[in-house]
Amino acid sequence: MNEYDSNRILDLTKKINYTHTDNLCEADCYILNTCHIREKATDKVYHDIGRVKKKFKNKPKPIVLIVGCVAQAEGNILLKKEKYIDAIIGPQSYHQINDTISKLEKKLNPINITEFDVIEKFDSLNILKNTDNRISSFLTIQEGCDKFCKFCVVPYTRGAEYSRSMEELVSEANQLVKNGAREINLLGQNVNAYNFKGKKLSDLIKEISKIKNLKRIRYTTSHPIDFSEDLIEVHQKCEKLMPLIHLPVQSGSNKILKAMNRKHTIEEYLEIVRKLIKVKPDIKFSSDFIIGYPGETYDDFKKTVKLMTKIRFINSFSFIFSARPGTPAFKLDKINEKDAKNRLLEFQQVGEDIKSNYRKKLINKTVNVLFENKMKSGNKYFGRDEHFNSVIVESNNDLTGKIKNVNIVKVNQNTLFGEVILNSSQTNYAA
Ligand code: SAM
Ligand code: SF4
Repeated sequence: MNEYDSNRILDLTKKINYTHTDNLCEADCYILNTCHIREKATDKVYHDIGRVKKKFKNKPKPIVLIVGCVAQAEGNILLKKEKYIDAIIGPQSYHQINDTISKLEKKLNPINITEFDVIEKFDSLNILKNTDNRISSFLTIQEGCDKFCKFCVVPYTRGAEYSRSMEELVSEANQLVKNGAREINLLGQNVNAYNFKGKKLSDLIKEISKIKNLKRIRYTTSHPIDFSEDLIEVHQKCEKLMPLIHLPVQSGSNKILKAMNRKHTIEEYLEIVRKLIKVKPDIKFSSDFIIGYPGETYDDFKKTVKLMTKIRFINSFSFIFSARPGTPAFKLDKINEKDAKNRLLEFQQVGEDIKSNYRKKLINKTVNVLFENKMKSGNKYFGRDEHFNSVIVESNNDLTGKIKNVNIVKVNQNTLFGEVILNSSQTNYAA
């Protein structure tokens, strides 16, 4: 979502004649978009500011804006502690960036804008053309969260759940496809909580799947309690919807799920998985896990490992519980740090073995790949298969934006390597 936001911020600042530079030393304005989900986020901000300060030691100071969730959560502290920062802008106030920069050009005082004005934000962004021209583009459809898991900062930094209108989303999706997108990844903190005047995520998927040159649709991140029957059905009916679902579960223990306020049980989670496999047998899953949540016993942890081996997630993102100030879990007694680290290592080893096994089985199989870009070295092209695996092939033809069947010849933990099957079309997926 920060990547999507950063692109929209770039579109916005073009209005006041700013343009993107890869060369930090020549920047007039430095905007750091931040994430607050786990510890050390604020340290990273100070570290980055230090880097900028060093680069600009013998030059006029650039305008420095800190935006995103760290700005939202720790704005005043940052402004007080680091005088090099000129303004703090929360994630629902990006529409005020241009005004802020204009004020700072006139050398006004430090600025802190952290109110939740999500409607005004999207109203302002909607009138700007989204210039993202990547083959696989992001589209934020929903923001914020009302679920209040006890460990999580999102409800406090991104605010309440808000869904953008179908009309503006279809229009932005059309724009992205006109710019060259062949895949759109619909984004939201709880993307399947999308609800605009009764229109749900499944309705939006059906609507944008009508865009002719749009070949693939994905969405992330979904929450188990919002996984409704209509969404399951759309996986059966919409061919453009890719068969990989990122469905965070956090823990395999009902006791821990309850303590986290996740509002569902493992049995309910498994039921969603079962229904999805029934309508779409080649569907696969990835997930997020929090290891060492306060109160987690080794027995609870083993239940998480068991879930991993049962579902055989093809990708997983696991982190040790990070106590976030302002959340209800902050004050809970943490489990022993060494135990937490050992559990994380054990869990990640199981996850890596599953992933490695799955990948080895793809050798000599055919996967259907949408190619996103030519790589810097040689005649290599990068793309993703339907299950979001990275695939690299060599080719003398320009494959950018094309969908091809690829025979996999070699794999490593992160990438599949293959050869394009000549005259292959997008329809004969056979993995
Ligand atoms: N809304 C999605 C859901 O509920 O599944 C997830 C969104 S959250 C921004 C992304 C991931 O960050 C979570 O799935 C969780 O695993 C991780 N996360 C959030 N707070 C955390 C914390 N305090 N410590 C460790 N991991 C955390
Ligand atoms: Fe955070 Fe997701 Fe829970 Fe919302 S549902 S509080 S975003 S983990």
